[in-house]
Amino acid sequence: MSLSVASILAESALRRPEHPALVSGSRKITYRELWDGARRYAAALRARGIGPDDKVALLLPSTPHFPAVYFGVLALGAIAVPVHALLRADEIAYVLEDSGAAALICAAPLLTEGGRAAETAGTPVLTVMEEEGDEEEWRTHAPRLDVLAERSTPIDRQVPRAPEDIAVILYTSGTTGRPKGALLTHLNVVMNVDTTMLSPFDFTEDDVLLGCLPLFHTFGQICGMNTCFRAGATLVLMPRFDGPGALDLMVREGCTVFMGVPTMYTALLDAARADPRRPALDRVFSGGSALPVAVLDAFRETFGCPVLEGYGLTETSPVVAYNQKAWPLRPGTVGRPIWGVEVEIARADVEGRIELVPAGELGEIVIRGHNVMAGYLNRPEATAEAVVDGWFRSGDLGVKDDEGYLSVVDRKKDVVLRGGYNVYPREVEDVLARHPAVAQAAVVGLPHPVHGEEVCAVVRARPGTAPGPALGAGIIAWSRERMAPYKYPRRVEFVEAFPLGPSGKVLKRELVAWLSAADPDKPPDG
Ligand code: ATP
Repeated sequence: MSLSVASILAESALRRPEHPALVSGSRKITYRELWDGARRYAAALRARGIGPDDKVALLLPSTPHFPAVYFGVLALGAIAVPVHALLRADEIAYVLEDSGAAALICAAPLLTEGGRAAETAGTPVLTVMEEEGDEEEWRTHAPRLDVLAERSTPIDRQVPRAPEDIAVILYTSGTTGRPKGALLTHLNVVMNVDTTMLSPFDFTEDDVLLGCLPLFHTFGQICGMNTCFRAGATLVLMPRFDGPGALDLMVREGCTVFMGVPTMYTALLDAARADPRRPALDRVFSGGSALPVAVLDAFRETFGCPVLEGYGLTETSPVVAYNQKAWPLRPGTVGRPIWGVEVEIARADVEGRIELVPAGELGEIVIRGHNVMAGYLNRPEATAEAVVDGWFRSGDLGVKDDEGYLSVVDRKKDVVLRGGYNVYPREVEDVLARHPAVAQAAVVGLPHPVHGEEVCAVVRARPGTAPGPALGAGIIAWSRERMAPYKYPRRVEFVEAFPLGPSGKVLKRELVAWLSAADPDKPPDG
């Protein structure tokens, strides 16, 4: 079997054909059925003229069609371009045009945006019906790929690929700017999956993973789905995450592994206050953004399972470092680099070359190894800036201690410069998370006439507390006792829910826009 992403599913289908690969509502889909479905999709796409190296965009939520289409595209030697399912028509059109997609495969409920986007970009659309009832959403005469696939004879064997061929183009989440298409090779993905399956994820074929991270995002797709399938374990699909629903599903389906972004951990903790049931979790992994230590502690206490935090990026396929069972857990760090990947700290102010700094010094996290992308699609300049002498510049600030544990201090772009001092929002958020009335906090900088920038906190209050000016003043006073004078927030505002990106991360640029508009004439006190 060739070293390819499609082999991940093909091999498990050969090894344990009757084991459930997917659980979706009341349906269980075995590995044989899933691989058979993928090869049918491959046949149907081939009949529509799609072939090796063609780019195929996928606008699909986390239902069984996603893996079937994804592995079908890959089995054909084509390149999968998963699109964030929450994007608007203009944003989707941008991805279709930028990637030069030969087709868009769109779920019926997403056709309103997907159809308009495809029209703008001039991309042919093929649709799949997610479930009964989708007919009402039917607005197009585009061919039904799922029906064509059902009528097709599965392709015999996957089209062989070379390790350096592009398998997937993943657009960065756009948390900090316009999305860029990261070109991930078969080797990038397969090596990251094989390495992390063993450690940190320790997947066995009897594991059951809750698939609540979106499959179009690197974390849900490569760490979640692909690693789970490589092990021959079971993925329980949850198309839309909510705390009570996730808790219920994990108990009912006997989930042994959970992977999530920090906002999911706070939602699970909220849910656990109302629901005394606990799933029999063996391993729990956090990534995507910083997990406050207070949340990690509360989760361990409530669910009886430590959270292993790690670090990764779309461009590094994605895992870079993780806390692992075999090593002492260091809360607040993202553990050590995974096998085969070098992680170092470079001087952040030096451009065009990499100047490494010794352990204990702050700088930019740089990464070298089998997981570093082949480049950004159509952006030679951005690629040359990001990958220097084989090192990928992450844009994140961090420190490595002399035992090799990595701490992510913050994104370079998020650092608040107040009165000549650097304030790292993550550090302030970590302290705020310990306040009894704070369920979640996000810290940003706003322009200030005297200090340059001022530190502002946006807080989601715990249920049962009364958010408002009095609590805000209380949080500021509490913070002043625990943080240096230049660090503590001078303004606290409350939200009922944070604006979240497609992968569940807090969108800080939206908070800044909202804070600026909420009171545009009044600079923060200070
Ligand atoms: P964009 O690149 O479009 O701005 P994004 O940076 O959110 O979006 P992703 O690839 O999804 O794109 O996320 C990678 C980033 O997530 C890292 O650069 C880092 O800033 C952040 N991150 C990931 N894991 C952690 C962690 N454990 N602690 C702190 N930050 C993390």
